[in-house]
Amino acid sequence: MTATIIDGKAIAEQVIEKVKHRVTKLQQQGITPGLTVVLVGEDAASQTYVGSKERTSKRLGMNSTVIQKPSSISEQELLEIIQELNAAPDVHGILVQLPLPKHIDENKVLQSIDPQKDVDGFHPLNVGKLLLDQQGFIPCTPFGIIQLLDYAGISIEGKHAVIVGRSNIVGKPMGQLLLNRHATVTYTHSRTPNLKDFTTQADILIVATGQPSMITGEHIKPGAAVIDVGIHRDSDGRLSGDVAFDSAKDVAGAITPVPGGVGPMTIAMLMENTCLSAERQAE
Ligand code: NDP
Repeated sequence: MTATIIDGKAIAEQVIEKVKHRVTKLQQQGITPGLTVVLVGEDAASQTYVGSKERTSKRLGMNSTVIQKPSSISEQELLEIIQELNAAPDVHGILVQLPLPKHIDENKVLQSIDPQKDVDGFHPLNVGKLLLDQQGFIPCTPFGIIQLLDYAGISIEGKHAVIVGRSNIVGKPMGQLLLNRHATVTYTHSRTPNLKDFTTQADILIVATGQPSMITGEHIKPGAAVIDVGIHRDSDGRLSGDVAFDSAKDVAGAITPVPGGVGPMTIAMLMENTCLSAERQAE
């Protein structure tokens, strides 16, 4: 058996097309959704991500601004920039690209963002709303994975979803979203003994560990849907994920590739969240 490849790039394009229509509608009311990304330091991966976020928002006709600051910026200066953005009526989405330099308290910065402009969904208020299944902002990567599953026709209700990884930005919100969609959810992490005992029970297996190719065909229940969140670049510039694709695809029923799986969806959902923020403010 060879798994169906879930084409994240094509699905992201469909999401982006829908957002584009919504942006046009807002523009007819005189509103242009605006996203401001704050980038601190010179991290190469962060610069690449910010670049593609900027390109995609411009493609959609949204206003896109990147505020780039050196890693020597003080926490206070950064907090002041965020206060200004919170007060700016033409800014609908604020995103602080992580990681931040060590001398800056990440939690303090994320908590200073107006929850109504928190398009990354990392503010505690939005985290709480996700837990309560209330309307807020959903973090882009797990939100994008739900869309991938829906577009690929993979049902969630009643399924056993196993998440490998419990980070605040991927693993934890992912499990909560799947629970809200009536899956039975198991979280696993680096202290989970006999990981395979859990992963082989998954109808839907989400892998977000940052460990290259750690999940192989042996970890997978035949026919399962496997979502690979990991992104790794080798010395030749080739990208791969947390799942060993060649071995996994012979066992899984459906699988996301890297690149072209979860990555494009993360950006598409950022556009969706920014548009949503502008729509809410227009109401
Ligand atoms: P973190 O490093 O924050 O979290 C990794 C999680 O994986 C932790 O919970 C850790 O457990 C767990 N883990 C690590 N090693 C193992 C192991 N051997 N067995 C089981 N669990 C393990 O990573 P992120 O969640 O931020 O990111 C994960 C990956 O996804 C990275 O490769 C990142 O680049 C990628 N990513 C991709 C995105 C996209 O758009 N495609 C967006 C965000 C991230 P513990 O808690 O016990 O330490």
